[in-house]
Amino acid sequence: MSPLHDYAGVIHLHSAYSFDGHVAVPEILRAARDCGLDFLMLTDHGTLRARDEGLEGWHDGLLLIVGEEISPRFNHYLAFQIQDAVEIPEGGDASRPQGYIDAVARRGGFGFIAHPDHGGNELFHVKHYPWQDWSVTGCTGMGIWDFMTDWQETLTGRGKAIWCYLQPALVLTGPKPETLRRWDHLNRRGKIVGIGELDNHGTRRRFLGLTVSVFPFRRAFRLIRTHLLTERPLTGHAEQDIPLLCGALRDGRAYIALETHREAKGFSFSVTGTGGTASLGDECRLDGSSQLRVRLPDRGRIRVIRNGRVWQEAAGTALDRPLREPGCYRVEIWRRVLGRHRPWIYSNPIYVRPGTAPLPDGGSAFVLTGPDPSPIV
Ligand SMILES: [Zn+2]
Ligand SMILES: [Zn+2]
Repeated sequence: MSPLHDYAGVIHLHSAYSFDGHVAVPEILRAARDCGLDFLMLTDHGTLRARDEGLEGWHDGLLLIVGEEISPRFNHYLAFQIQDAVEIPEGGDASRPQGYIDAVARRGGFGFIAHPDHGGNELFHVKHYPWQDWSVTGCTGMGIWDFMTDWQETLTGRGKAIWCYLQPALVLTGPKPETLRRWDHLNRRGKIVGIGELDNHGTRRRFLGLTVSVFPFRRAFRLIRTHLLTERPLTGHAEQDIPLLCGALRDGRAYIALETHREAKGFSFSVTGTGGTASLGDECRLDGSSQLRVRLPDRGRIRVIRNGRVWQEAAGTALDRPLREPGCYRVEIWRRVLGRHRPWIYSNPIYVRPGTAPLPDGGSAFVLTGPDPSPIV
Protein backbone atom coordinates (compact mmCIF):
# COMPACT_ATOMS: atom_id res chain seq x y z
CA MET A 1 0.00 0.00 0.00
CA SER A 2 1.36 3.46 -0.84
CA PRO A 3 1.63 5.94 2.04
CA LEU A 4 -1.70 7.28 3.20
CA HIS A 5 -2.52 11.00 3.17
CA ASP A 6 -3.25 12.37 6.63
CA TYR A 7 -5.84 15.16 7.02
CA ALA A 8 -6.55 16.77 10.40
CA GLY A 9 -9.95 18.13 11.23
CA VAL A 10 -12.61 18.64 13.85
CA ILE A 11 -15.88 16.73 14.07
CA HIS A 12 -18.95 17.93 15.99
CA LEU A 13 -19.16 21.68 16.45
CA HIS A 14 -21.97 24.23 16.40
CA SER A 15 -22.37 27.53 14.57
CA ALA A 16 -24.91 30.32 15.02
CA TYR A 17 -27.33 28.15 12.98
CA SER A 18 -27.81 26.08 16.15
CA PHE A 19 -30.31 27.47 18.67
CA ASP A 20 -27.50 27.47 21.24
CA GLY A 21 -24.62 28.43 18.90
CA HIS A 22 -23.04 31.87 18.92
CA VAL A 23 -20.48 32.15 16.12
CA ALA A 24 -21.19 32.62 12.40
CA VAL A 25 -19.77 30.03 10.01
CA PRO A 26 -17.32 32.42 8.22
CA GLU A 27 -15.70 33.31 11.54
CA ILE A 28 -15.42 29.62 12.45
CA LEU A 29 -13.79 28.94 9.07
CA ARG A 30 -11.23 31.69 9.63
CA ALA A 31 -10.34 30.24 13.03
CA ALA A 32 -9.97 26.73 11.57
CA ARG A 33 -7.68 27.98 8.82
CA ASP A 34 -5.56 29.90 11.33
CA CYS A 35 -5.17 26.65 13.32
CA GLY A 36 -4.02 24.76 10.21
CA LEU A 37 -7.00 22.39 10.03
CA ASP A 38 -7.76 20.62 6.77
CA PHE A 39 -11.49 20.00 7.30
CA LEU A 40 -14.45 20.68 9.60
CA MET A 41 -17.55 18.51 10.04
CA LEU A 42 -20.19 20.93 11.30
CA THR A 43 -23.16 19.47 13.17
CA ASP A 44 -25.76 22.10 14.00
CA HIS A 45 -28.79 20.93 15.99
CA GLY A 46 -31.54 19.70 13.70
CA THR A 47 -30.54 21.69 10.61
CA LEU A 48 -28.39 21.64 7.48
CA ARG A 49 -28.75 25.38 7.00
CA ALA A 50 -25.02 25.94 6.43
CA ARG A 51 -25.29 23.70 3.37
CA ASP A 52 -28.59 25.25 2.22
CA GLU A 53 -26.85 28.63 2.26
CA GLY A 54 -24.03 27.36 0.04
CA LEU A 55 -21.29 27.16 2.66
CA GLU A 56 -20.38 23.49 2.25
CA GLY A 57 -17.16 23.04 0.25
CA TRP A 58 -13.66 24.49 0.05
CA HIS A 59 -12.75 27.80 1.67
CA ASP A 60 -9.10 28.69 0.97
CA GLY A 61 -7.64 25.31 1.82
CA LEU A 62 -10.24 24.30 4.40
CA LEU A 63 -13.03 21.85 3.50
CA LEU A 64 -16.35 22.36 5.29
CA ILE A 65 -18.61 19.29 5.45
CA VAL A 66 -22.11 19.94 6.79
CA GLY A 67 -23.88 17.29 8.89
CA GLU A 68 -26.55 17.46 11.57
CA GLU A 69 -26.75 16.65 15.26
CA ILE A 70 -30.07 14.96 15.90
CA SER A 71 -30.62 15.95 19.49
CA PRO A 72 -33.70 14.95 21.45
CA ARG A 73 -33.45 14.90 25.25
CA PHE A 74 -31.16 11.83 25.15
CA ASN A 75 -29.42 9.75 22.47
CA HIS A 76 -27.76 12.45 20.37
CA TYR A 77 -26.69 11.26 16.92
CA LEU A 78 -24.30 12.90 14.42
CA ALA A 79 -25.49 12.38 10.83
CA PHE A 80 -23.48 13.00 7.65
CA GLN A 81 -24.05 12.81 3.90
CA ILE A 82 -27.81 13.15 4.24
CA GLN A 83 -29.72 15.02 1.54
CA ASP A 84 -32.11 16.68 3.97
CA ALA A 85 -32.30 17.11 7.73
CA VAL A 86 -33.89 14.45 9.91
CA GLU A 87 -36.62 15.80 12.14
CA ILE A 88 -37.86 13.80 15.08
CA PRO A 89 -41.60 13.37 15.36
CA GLU A 90 -43.21 13.29 18.80
CA GLY A 91 -43.70 9.75 20.13
CA GLY A 92 -43.82 6.51 18.14
CA ASP A 93 -40.99 4.39 16.79
CA ALA A 94 -39.48 7.17 14.68
CA SER A 95 -38.73 9.14 17.86
CA ARG A 96 -36.62 6.27 19.20
CA PRO A 97 -32.92 6.24 18.27
CA GLN A 98 -33.35 3.27 15.92
CA GLY A 99 -35.99 5.33 14.08
CA TYR A 100 -33.62 8.20 13.32
CA ILE A 101 -30.59 5.93 12.76
CA ASP A 102 -32.67 4.22 10.06
CA ALA A 103 -33.89 7.58 8.70
CA VAL A 104 -30.25 8.65 8.23
CA ALA A 105 -29.45 5.39 6.43
CA ARG A 106 -32.54 5.80 4.20
CA ARG A 107 -31.20 9.20 3.14
CA GLY A 108 -27.92 7.52 2.10
CA GLY A 109 -26.06 8.86 5.11
CA PHE A 110 -24.15 7.48 8.07
CA GLY A 111 -23.86 8.47 11.70
CA PHE A 112 -22.19 8.34 15.08
CA ILE A 113 -23.45 8.06 18.63
CA ALA A 114 -22.47 11.41 20.21
CA HIS A 115 -20.93 11.90 23.67
CA PRO A 116 -22.26 8.50 24.90
CA ASP A 117 -21.31 8.97 28.56
CA HIS A 118 -22.18 12.65 28.93
CA GLY A 119 -22.55 13.39 32.63
CA GLY A 120 -23.34 17.14 32.76
CA ASN A 121 -22.38 19.43 35.62
CA GLU A 122 -24.79 20.33 38.39
CA LEU A 123 -22.72 23.20 39.77
CA PHE A 124 -22.80 24.98 36.39
CA HIS A 125 -26.35 23.81 35.51
CA VAL A 126 -25.35 21.62 32.57
CA LYS A 127 -27.83 18.76 32.04
CA HIS A 128 -26.62 15.26 31.24
CA TYR A 129 -27.05 13.99 27.66
CA PRO A 130 -25.89 10.36 27.57
CA TRP A 131 -26.74 7.67 25.03
CA GLN A 132 -29.24 5.33 26.68
CA ASP A 133 -30.36 2.81 24.08
CA TRP A 134 -27.59 0.30 23.36
CA SER A 135 -29.92 -2.10 21.54
CA VAL A 136 -29.56 -0.08 18.31
CA THR A 137 -27.93 -1.31 15.11
CA GLY A 138 -26.71 0.40 11.97
CA CYS A 139 -24.47 3.12 13.47
CA THR A 140 -21.12 3.64 11.79
CA GLY A 141 -19.52 4.41 15.12
CA MET A 142 -19.42 6.45 18.30
CA GLY A 143 -17.62 9.36 19.87
CA ILE A 144 -14.88 7.99 22.09
CA TRP A 145 -13.52 11.32 23.33
CA ASP A 146 -15.60 14.48 23.56
CA PHE A 147 -13.82 17.62 24.68
CA MET A 148 -16.83 19.55 26.01
CA THR A 149 -18.28 16.61 27.95
CA ASP A 150 -15.03 15.93 29.75
CA TRP A 151 -14.05 19.53 30.26
CA GLN A 152 -17.41 20.44 31.84
CA GLU A 153 -17.03 17.58 34.29
CA THR A 154 -13.69 18.96 35.51
CA LEU A 155 -15.44 22.12 36.78
CA THR A 156 -15.80 20.97 40.36
CA GLY A 157 -15.53 24.42 41.96
CA ARG A 158 -15.52 28.08 40.97
CA GLY A 159 -11.81 28.51 41.69
CA LYS A 160 -10.96 25.34 39.78
CA ALA A 161 -13.07 26.60 36.87
CA ILE A 162 -10.63 29.49 36.31
CA TRP A 163 -7.72 27.05 35.94
CA CYS A 164 -9.82 24.78 33.72
CA TYR A 165 -10.73 27.71 31.49
CA LEU A 166 -7.15 28.90 31.17
CA GLN A 167 -5.61 25.45 30.63
CA PRO A 168 -8.30 23.16 29.17
CA ALA A 169 -5.80 20.70 27.71
CA LEU A 170 -4.07 20.16 31.04
CA VAL A 171 -7.26 19.08 32.82
CA LEU A 172 -8.18 16.42 30.25
CA THR A 173 -7.29 12.88 31.25
CA GLY A 174 -8.15 11.00 28.05
CA PRO A 175 -11.33 9.23 26.98
CA LYS A 176 -13.58 8.02 29.78
CA PRO A 177 -12.67 4.47 30.82
CA GLU A 178 -16.33 3.38 30.58
CA THR A 179 -16.53 4.72 27.01
CA LEU A 180 -13.37 2.87 25.98
CA ARG A 181 -14.62 -0.32 27.66
CA ARG A 182 -17.84 -0.15 25.72
CA TRP A 183 -16.04 0.65 22.47
CA ASP A 184 -13.64 -2.27 22.91
CA HIS A 185 -16.55 -4.54 23.71
CA LEU A 186 -18.54 -3.50 20.64
CA ASN A 187 -15.48 -3.80 18.40
CA ARG A 188 -15.16 -7.47 19.22
CA ARG A 189 -18.53 -8.04 17.56
CA GLY A 190 -18.44 -5.63 14.63
CA LYS A 191 -16.63 -2.57 13.41
CA ILE A 192 -17.55 0.51 15.44
CA VAL A 193 -15.53 3.49 14.25
CA GLY A 194 -14.29 5.81 17.01
CA ILE A 195 -14.22 9.58 16.49
CA GLY A 196 -13.10 12.59 18.52
CA GLU A 197 -15.66 15.30 19.22
CA LEU A 198 -15.23 18.94 20.14
CA ASP A 199 -18.87 20.04 20.67
CA ASN A 200 -17.85 23.68 20.96
CA HIS A 201 -20.60 26.31 20.70
CA GLY A 202 -18.61 29.48 21.47
CA THR A 203 -21.07 29.94 24.35
CA ARG A 204 -20.85 33.29 26.16
CA ARG A 205 -21.12 33.06 29.94
CA ARG A 206 -20.96 35.57 32.78
CA PHE A 207 -18.41 34.44 35.31
CA LEU A 208 -16.98 36.52 38.18
CA GLY A 209 -18.33 39.69 36.57
CA LEU A 210 -16.78 38.99 33.17
CA THR A 211 -18.30 37.68 29.93
CA VAL A 212 -16.17 34.84 28.59
CA SER A 213 -16.50 32.69 25.48
CA VAL A 214 -16.47 28.92 26.07
CA PHE A 215 -14.46 28.60 23.92
CA PRO A 216 -13.24 30.93 21.21
CA PHE A 217 -12.86 28.58 18.21
CA ARG A 218 -9.23 29.66 17.77
CA ARG A 219 -8.51 28.00 21.13
CA ALA A 220 -10.92 25.09 20.80
CA PHE A 221 -9.48 23.98 17.45
CA ARG A 222 -6.14 23.21 19.15
CA LEU A 223 -7.79 20.59 21.37
CA ILE A 224 -9.32 17.28 20.23
CA ARG A 225 -8.99 16.59 16.51
CA THR A 226 -9.78 13.59 14.33
CA HIS A 227 -7.35 12.65 11.55
CA LEU A 228 -8.60 10.90 8.41
CA LEU A 229 -6.29 8.84 6.19
CA THR A 230 -6.96 8.61 2.47
CA GLU A 231 -5.30 6.60 -0.29
CA ARG A 232 -5.58 9.50 -2.75
CA PRO A 233 -4.81 13.16 -2.00
CA LEU A 234 -7.63 15.68 -1.86
CA THR A 235 -8.11 17.47 -5.17
CA GLY A 236 -9.63 20.84 -4.27
CA HIS A 237 -12.97 19.77 -5.78
CA ALA A 238 -15.57 19.35 -3.05
CA GLU A 239 -17.73 16.94 -5.04
CA GLN A 240 -14.82 14.46 -5.05
CA ASP A 241 -13.21 15.33 -1.73
CA ILE A 242 -16.26 15.14 0.55
CA PRO A 243 -17.01 11.51 -0.45
CA LEU A 244 -13.29 10.69 -0.14
CA LEU A 245 -13.05 11.98 3.44
CA CYS A 246 -16.46 10.56 4.41
CA GLY A 247 -15.40 7.20 2.95
CA ALA A 248 -12.23 7.20 5.06
CA LEU A 249 -14.32 8.02 8.13
CA ARG A 250 -16.85 5.27 7.44
CA ASP A 251 -13.99 2.80 6.99
CA GLY A 252 -12.41 3.76 10.31
CA ARG A 253 -9.27 5.18 8.68
CA ALA A 254 -9.12 7.59 11.58
CA TYR A 255 -7.27 8.48 14.74
CA ILE A 256 -7.99 10.99 17.47
CA ALA A 257 -5.45 13.34 19.02
CA LEU A 258 -5.22 16.07 21.65
CA GLU A 259 -2.92 18.48 19.82
CA THR A 260 -2.50 21.47 22.10
CA HIS A 261 1.11 20.64 22.91
CA ARG A 262 2.19 18.56 19.93
CA GLU A 263 0.59 17.90 16.57
CA ALA A 264 0.14 14.23 15.70
CA LYS A 265 0.74 14.12 11.94
CA GLY A 266 3.37 11.47 11.31
CA PHE A 267 1.63 8.90 13.52
CA SER A 268 1.06 5.55 11.86
CA PHE A 269 -0.17 2.12 12.94
CA SER A 270 -0.20 -0.90 10.64
CA VAL A 271 -0.05 -4.68 10.47
CA THR A 272 2.01 -6.19 7.67
CA GLY A 273 1.95 -9.77 6.46
CA THR A 274 2.20 -11.79 3.30
CA GLY A 275 -1.21 -10.43 2.27
CA GLY A 276 0.01 -6.81 2.37
CA THR A 277 -0.33 -3.94 4.84
CA ALA A 278 -3.43 -3.28 6.91
CA SER A 279 -4.03 0.19 8.33
CA LEU A 280 -6.53 1.72 10.75
CA GLY A 281 -9.99 0.24 10.38
CA ASP A 282 -8.78 -2.59 8.14
CA GLU A 283 -9.28 -6.30 8.60
CA CYS A 284 -6.43 -8.69 7.83
CA ARG A 285 -5.54 -12.32 8.27
CA LEU A 286 -2.96 -13.54 10.75
CA ASP A 287 -0.06 -15.39 9.13
CA GLY A 288 3.43 -16.49 10.13
CA SER A 289 4.97 -13.14 9.18
CA SER A 290 2.37 -10.79 10.68
CA GLN A 291 4.09 -7.79 12.23
CA LEU A 292 2.55 -4.89 14.14
CA ARG A 293 4.18 -1.51 13.57
CA VAL A 294 3.70 1.88 15.30
CA ARG A 295 5.52 5.11 14.36
CA LEU A 296 5.33 8.47 16.15
CA PRO A 297 6.40 11.99 15.16
CA ASP A 298 7.81 12.50 18.65
CA ARG A 299 8.67 10.46 21.72
CA GLY A 300 5.74 8.99 23.61
CA ARG A 301 4.58 6.06 25.73
CA ILE A 302 3.08 3.55 23.32
CA ARG A 303 0.37 1.23 24.59
CA VAL A 304 -1.05 -1.46 22.33
CA ILE A 305 -4.49 -2.69 23.42
CA ARG A 306 -5.70 -6.12 22.32
CA ASN A 307 -9.37 -6.98 22.89
CA GLY A 308 -9.64 -4.26 25.52
CA ARG A 309 -6.55 -5.22 27.52
CA VAL A 310 -3.02 -3.73 27.46
CA TRP A 311 -0.95 -6.11 25.34
CA GLN A 312 2.36 -4.26 24.90
CA GLU A 313 3.84 -1.08 26.29
CA ALA A 314 7.02 0.75 25.32
CA ALA A 315 8.52 4.25 25.28
CA GLY A 316 10.08 5.89 22.24
CA THR A 317 9.10 6.79 18.69
CA ALA A 318 8.60 3.27 17.29
CA LEU A 319 7.32 -0.15 18.25
CA ASP A 320 7.55 -3.36 16.18
CA ARG A 321 6.17 -6.67 17.42
CA PRO A 322 5.43 -9.98 15.74
CA LEU A 323 1.76 -10.98 15.98
CA ARG A 324 0.90 -14.49 17.10
CA GLU A 325 -2.78 -14.10 18.03
CA PRO A 326 -5.86 -12.75 16.28
CA GLY A 327 -7.74 -9.91 17.92
CA CYS A 328 -8.87 -6.33 17.80
CA TYR A 329 -5.71 -4.23 18.17
CA ARG A 330 -5.62 -0.49 18.81
CA VAL A 331 -3.01 1.97 20.05
CA GLU A 332 -2.93 4.70 22.71
CA ILE A 333 -0.06 7.16 22.97
CA TRP A 334 0.72 9.22 26.05
CA ARG A 335 3.26 12.02 26.05
CA ARG A 336 5.16 13.75 28.81
CA VAL A 337 4.06 17.38 29.21
CA LEU A 338 4.99 19.52 32.24
CA GLY A 339 6.25 16.53 34.21
CA ARG A 340 3.31 14.17 33.61
CA HIS A 341 2.24 11.65 31.03
CA ARG A 342 -0.81 13.06 29.28
CA PRO A 343 -3.13 11.58 26.65
CA TRP A 344 -2.10 12.32 23.07
CA ILE A 345 -3.25 9.83 20.38
CA TYR A 346 -5.99 7.13 20.17
CA SER A 347 -6.14 5.00 17.02
CA ASN A 348 -9.01 3.07 15.54
CA PRO A 349 -8.43 -0.70 15.65
CA ILE A 350 -6.95 -3.07 13.12
CA TYR A 351 -8.97 -6.29 13.13
CA VAL A 352 -6.68 -9.31 12.85
CA ARG A 353 -8.63 -12.43 11.99
CA PRO A 354 -7.49 -16.02 12.53
CA GLY A 355 -5.40 -17.30 9.63
CA THR A 356 -7.98 -19.86 8.55
CA ALA A 357 -10.98 -17.52 8.62
CA PRO A 358 -12.06 -16.16 5.24
CA LEU A 359 -12.02 -12.39 4.94
CA PRO A 360 -15.43 -10.87 4.19
CA ASP A 361 -15.94 -8.99 0.93
CA GLY A 362 -16.03 -5.67 2.74
CA GLY A 363 -18.69 -4.39 5.09
CA SER A 364 -18.26 -4.79 8.78
CA ALA A 365 -19.12 -8.41 9.40
CA PHE A 366 -16.14 -8.90 11.67
CA VAL A 367 -16.76 -11.42 14.40
CA LEU A 368 -13.99 -12.92 16.48
CA THR A 369 -14.00 -16.61 17.11
CA GLY A 370 -13.88 -17.83 20.69
CA PRO A 371 -16.04 -17.03 23.70
CA ASP A 372 -18.25 -13.98 23.73
CA PRO A 373 -16.68 -10.89 25.19
CA SER A 374 -17.70 -10.37 28.79
CA PRO A 375 -20.78 -8.20 29.26
CA ILE A 376 -20.34 -4.54 30.05
CA VAL A 377 -21.17 -3.51 33.58
ZN1 LIG B 1 -25.22 16.65 21.85
ZN1 LIG C 1 -23.37 19.10 20.03
